[in-house]
Amino acid sequence: MSASAKNRLTVPDLLREACLLDGEWVTNDDWIEVTNPSDHSVIARVPRMGPRETENAIARAHAAGKAWARTAPARRATILRTWFELVRAHREDLAAILTLEQGKPLGEARAEMDYAASYIEWFSEEARRGYGDIIPSADPNVRQLVLREPVGVCAAITPWNFPSGMVTRKVAPALAAGCTMILKPAEQTPLSALALAYLAHEAGVPPGVLQVLTGPSRAIGGVLTASKVVRKLTFTGSTEVGRVLAAQCAPTLKKLSLELGGNAPFIVFADADLDRAVEGAIQSKFRNAGQTCVCTNRLLVQEEVHDEFSRKLAARIQEFKVGDGFAEDVDQGPLIDRKAFNRMQELVDDALMHGGSVLCGGKAHPAGALCFSPTLLTNVSRNARVAHEEIFGPLAAVFSFKDEEEAVAFANDTEYGLAGYVFTRSLARAWRVSEALECGMVGVNSGLISSAAVPFGGIKQSGYGREGSKYGLDDYTELKYVCMAGLESTV
Ligand code: NAP
Repeated sequence: MSASAKNRLTVPDLLREACLLDGEWVTNDDWIEVTNPSDHSVIARVPRMGPRETENAIARAHAAGKAWARTAPARRATILRTWFELVRAHREDLAAILTLEQGKPLGEARAEMDYAASYIEWFSEEARRGYGDIIPSADPNVRQLVLREPVGVCAAITPWNFPSGMVTRKVAPALAAGCTMILKPAEQTPLSALALAYLAHEAGVPPGVLQVLTGPSRAIGGVLTASKVVRKLTFTGSTEVGRVLAAQCAPTLKKLSLELGGNAPFIVFADADLDRAVEGAIQSKFRNAGQTCVCTNRLLVQEEVHDEFSRKLAARIQEFKVGDGFAEDVDQGPLIDRKAFNRMQELVDDALMHGGSVLCGGKAHPAGALCFSPTLLTNVSRNARVAHEEIFGPLAAVFSFKDEEEAVAFANDTEYGLAGYVFTRSLARAWRVSEALECGMVGVNSGLISSAAVPFGGIKQSGYGREGSKYGLDDYTELKYVCMAGLESTV
């Protein structure tokens, strides 16, 4: 563990250089270095686990599963609540670990920790509410009951863009439902997942109920998906990898939740409050340097206000302070790696080839090797890559449209269906467009839409399944129907 990383933490034990397997912190002599995207310094190292350890984790999860499923929901709720309180108590350290390994500004890392903790709190409460049903029977001597049972051993594969939020959104409902969980975090950001697991262990989550494996995703993912014991896979990441994992899960017919990529339209009508729309675009496009699955990907602005909106938005993003996530008042950190950075320049070049012009940014930012200037493009053809591909960076293009019909058609012209945004003062239009958008989530006059209380997820090739909300336990439970007959009176 680097001295500078250690110095940032009040409780250095949170920075784990080991995997949690069956309640023990385990290492081997094969290591992966975790680096800070801001300066490429090595923060810590984690073990490179493989198929053997994965098989072992599956066996331990299976062994622990029976007792955990039979643990009273109220007891599971108490353990989750304790975990939530520990995460809250260590917020500063957890946020520092997040910024160290992911690069996002410390303020955003704190917000992510609040978001991550809120899912543990929410599911500590939902743990008590795994209600069933009684269905009236045609036969007066029969009772028909529906019970909810935990799915069993679950596996989660999580991405680097929200290294804490994506973990708790999966682990908390699984544990609340009575499932056991094997978590494989992204290779670039395993430290947040390990720190959360450390606190879960401290909170009393029993051995084998939550295990974390670090190492090569293909090898570990291959064993998890092929296993007959693992009954569910939950994955957040790209659509491309989601398709691969779905195919790998097909032979064992696993239950699947896939939270995949997006290409969110952000539609601004001429009657909108333009200042509000500009702030919404900042929140939904530029948070986490644009590396968010629900990020605005295409700005669709009605022609009457196109120039004014573009000018206002460009002026705001030119004020951004770009730099190291720990620097004071920084708005935007570095991108996660060189590939992500190079992609921004490729997308800008492609947009310029398609007739676009740069309103601001469009090039590397001097604040750091992986920093890209917040960028706004205009006059780009709808054939350009920025109109079709998930951008995943601090860059957006403004497209103009004439009327509602054209806006909705362009908005839906994508294989993705995760989020969409609409800004208008017309209530009727807000309803019409919300209903017409082909996506799982819509923000009306808002660029920030996610919370533990609401169902998060997509349609089309953005995947399936929902995380959070009163529906969030569904993905981790199976319905069992019990037909109870022979109730005729014997007296
Ligand atoms: P990614 O390349 O799909 O990777 C995501 C995770 O999958 C990582 O943990 C990675 O592990 C693992 N992985 C990659 N190939 C694998 C394989 N063949 N088998 C098993 N695991 C494999 O995505 P990303 O670039 O890291 O994340 C960004 C994507 O996630 C974007 O498309 C974004 O929209 C999406 N996302 C979606 C949501 C949502 O809720 N819908 C939320 C956040 C992000 P390694 O890193 O160890 O290789």
